Amino acid sequence: MDSATHASGPSETPGDVTRVTPRAALAKLPAYAAGKPASQIPGLVAYKLASNENPFGAVPAVREAVAGFDAYNRYPDPSATALREALADYLHVPAEDIVAGAGSLGALNQLLAAFAGTGEDGRPDEVVYSWRSFEAYPISVGLAGALSVQVPNLSDGSHDLDAMAAAVTERTRVVLLCTPNNPTGPSLRADAVREFLGRIPSSVVVVVDEAYWEFQRGEGLVDGIELYREHPNVVSLRTFSKAHGLAGLRVGYTVAQQDVTRHLRQSAPAFAVTELGQLAATASLASIEQVEQRVQSLVDERERVLRGLAELGWQHPRTEANFVWLPLGERSAEFTEMCDQHALSVRCFTSEGVRVSFGEPEANSRFLELCAAFPHPSTMPTPRQP
Ligand SMILES: *Cc1c(COP(=O)(O)O)cnc(C)c1O
Repeated sequence: MDSATHASGPSETPGDVTRVTPRAALAKLPAYAAGKPASQIPGLVAYKLASNENPFGAVPAVREAVAGFDAYNRYPDPSATALREALADYLHVPAEDIVAGAGSLGALNQLLAAFAGTGEDGRPDEVVYSWRSFEAYPISVGLAGALSVQVPNLSDGSHDLDAMAAAVTERTRVVLLCTPNNPTGPSLRADAVREFLGRIPSSVVVVVDEAYWEFQRGEGLVDGIELYREHPNVVSLRTFSKAHGLAGLRVGYTVAQQDVTRHLRQSAPAFAVTELGQLAATASLASIEQVEQRVQSLVDERERVLRGLAELGWQHPRTEANFVWLPLGERSAEFTEMCDQHALSVRCFTSEGVRVSFGEPEANSRFLELCAAFPHPSTMPTPRQP
């Protein structure tokens, strides 16, 4: 380029020069508030119960698998072949039906890029989901250029499937079902979701976000893998971040029929999953019994904490995940602050509630002690309408 074309460098840029402007969609995006580490309090071990992370970390086989890795200069296998084959064995599905992504969030963005954005007529496509649900949804949908249609949760924190079906219009391209729902906890029932699927057009992609699938113990709950076999428009979205304790490596995946997956492969960023991530996830699957034992001990902790909360008279929605939602309404910030002063970080949703992950047994016991000390609401406030 001719040096004369940029004779005035950044330091000389005059104030009236037109600034770069992002797409209008960006101005409307809510910020993603990541969970923070707990405050350090002398004499107390600090615990983070704010991000639904696995406190036990990855299984030892993961450390062994990545220890010998030295191909930092090489691009990863773009189609994550070994990982998809290991997943195919584990899930009893064809490897062609699996697409890996950079976390399930990366996989979701890939899906939205393929199916929802600005329509041919210049108007945004619609994506229907329950609210409150996963905080990343409005950001991902907005970034894709589509419009979020949020359907309020029922008062028990579960999806209102009737209202969601009614919210589907000819502009709806995608429906997101979050089960168990983050942050409120309940899972969807299989019969209810089958009925729901019967009521919406098969041209609408239905994503079943099952980030906490491994933690569920209830009967009759939805299993996205079963549903995708029956419905060409259903996508199961899963992750290694929670049960496998690999949140830091960003490995997730979708399972869907090839009418869907061929479009996902088209919209996938090249080399989305690092080789280290692929190695780690494959090794974790090979040690699935150990992963399951760790999940079970978290489930045991969940049930212990829930019994403790019940004894204290606390009310909350049923949770099938590794966290519990305390619908504290206007007192959410006060509760969060009290936890922080006792070196526990929990996740505050101002004026709505507090989400607390189940962590190390000592952290969970401290959480229960704090609940005992906090004057508890005797009834569950109904969620605020948006
Ligand atoms: C944690 C979470 C995810 C995904 O996380 P990744 O780390 O991107 O796999 C997806 N959906 C929900 C509902 C979650 O809570």
